[in-house]
Amino acid sequence: MRLILLGPPGAGKGTQAQRLVARHGICQLSTGDMLREAVRNGTPVGVRAKEVMDAGQLVSDDIVIDIVSDRIEEADAAKGFILDGFPRTVAQAVALDEMLKAKGHKLDAVIEFKVDQNKLVDRIMQRAKETEARGEPVRKDDDPVVFKTRLEAFNRDTAIVAPYYAERGLLVTIDGMQPIDDVAQAISEVLETV
Ligand code: AMP
Repeated sequence: MRLILLGPPGAGKGTQAQRLVARHGICQLSTGDMLREAVRNGTPVGVRAKEVMDAGQLVSDDIVIDIVSDRIEEADAAKGFILDGFPRTVAQAVALDEMLKAKGHKLDAVIEFKVDQNKLVDRIMQRAKETEARGEPVRKDDDPVVFKTRLEAFNRDTAIVAPYYAERGLLVTIDGMQPIDDVAQAISEVLETV
């Protein structure tokens, strides 16, 4: 199974991706996680991406496309994957199509989380609080000011990715404001039909 989870930051993509990993045994490919790891490890990509990420802007398409293209070549991605946080631009979506075509693979579904953007800051602040309570470091971009920039980047560059997939008959929209279990149930129902 090859899936994309689409939606603004704080929509719950990561949470649902983890559930899908546990249930279907396929891997979660989160470009945000991969970039944060690169930053932690001080790799050349990490060094280039750090400031952009801290500011809540999008990392350049070429960097992100390279990361994903390498990652989907790895053995654990052969069974399928859930893309979380990618594609975030139409250029990334086009590049993904090319990558999959070259491997003779197809996407099964693109699931869009519809959310009330006014409620997302609260969700992000809650996430930061929970992370802190677990004694883990809080993401620098989980901050109300940076979050606003992340949301702007979503509305400017990423919102048009959903229509790209709708035109290709792949888009399914679910209500991302429901409780976590209900969102998971809605996703299961979508997956039964693909
Ligand atoms: P996320 O964990 O998905 O919220 O991503 C955190 C940050 O990583 C984003 O705000 C961007 O700076 C960067 N990032 C993650 N995925 C992408 C992507 N597909 N394209 C560009 N930048 C990305």
